[in-house]
Amino acid sequence: MRKRFLGLVSAAVLVLSFLPGASAANAAAHSVCIDPGHGGSDTGTSGGGILEKDLNLDVASELGAILSANGYGVFYTRTGDISLGNSARAKYCNSVGATILVSVHHNGSSNPATDYSTALYQKRIDRDLARAVTGSVSTALGIPNKGITQFASGVLVKSDMPATISEGYFLTNPDEQSRLNDPGRDYRYEEAQAIYQGIVAYLASQ
Ligand SMILES: [Zn+2]
Repeated sequence: MRKRFLGLVSAAVLVLSFLPGASAANAAAHSVCIDPGHGGSDTGTSGGGILEKDLNLDVASELGAILSANGYGVFYTRTGDISLGNSARAKYCNSVGATILVSVHHNGSSNPATDYSTALYQKRIDRDLARAVTGSVSTALGIPNKGITQFASGVLVKSDMPATISEGYFLTNPDEQSRLNDPGRDYRYEEAQAIYQGIVAYLASQ
């Protein structure tokens, strides 16, 4: 127990030491509604033996842990493998009054070579957040940045706050599949860290 606690503390210190822009005072004023895409009977895309709904939940959980460790408020639309409509996701985030909404997804294509990062937006107020997230993810993961794409998802349309859907990379790409199945390196954590840094950069710019 004690060892686990110390491990968490040192992880938090490590995260903070990489983020000179993140101050605890600012963090406490902001909360992030994290929305792991799909769930239940809706699996999303798949590849390398991994379902998108599970990957989304893993990355979202890592993201929430990083945000909490840095003093941000965190809400989740789902923490388990359940089906949830897009309207319900947006309504929940509205009801808790989150500062921003970040939906975690991954892309899929019939062409296995396709791989890039993009972030979806719908409202005008979504655009800067979407830009910050996809920029950070593409840089951290070393994949092309396709920029932001307008998309009328209910999560984006019905949310009151700036919101984005991060489509971090293509789960159908063999390079990404071997990264995700690499026992020696935690790429899910690295992606969560990248989304976190995009969030911090966005909030600092407001
Ligand atoms: Zn998806």
